Amino acid sequence: MVTAVRTLDEGAWVNVNNTRIVGVSDIWRLADHDVCDCDVALFLVEVFTDIGVDGPWVEARAAGQCIACGERSTTGWLRIGRPVPRSDEFRTVDHEQVHRPSKTRFRG
Ligand SMILES: [Zn+2]
Repeated sequence: MVTAVRTLDEGAWVNVNNTRIVGVSDIWRLADHDVCDCDVALFLVEVFTDIGVDGPWVEARAAGQCIACGERSTTGWLRIGRPVPRSDEFRTVDHEQVHRPSKTRFRG
């Protein structure tokens, strides 16, 4: 169960239950996004600006730059990982797959 989520080092890391799970400098492939005009943005995360929990998912918003077109922006809410049921493990999503940020935190 996710009990504590926060960012560390001024947004350089997402920390879940006292473990650093996702850091900046990864390139996230984003579809259905507001970052820029690319169909699939190649979004270089520079800082995590917000973090939250929606059901089992830990979600975050990130600021950075699309390296395909150069546009700088902030993403919607991205699902970044969730706990593995009945274990202490936390599994992050594969940022090289295509992700769809949500404008709202809760997807219902
Ligand atoms: Zn772009």
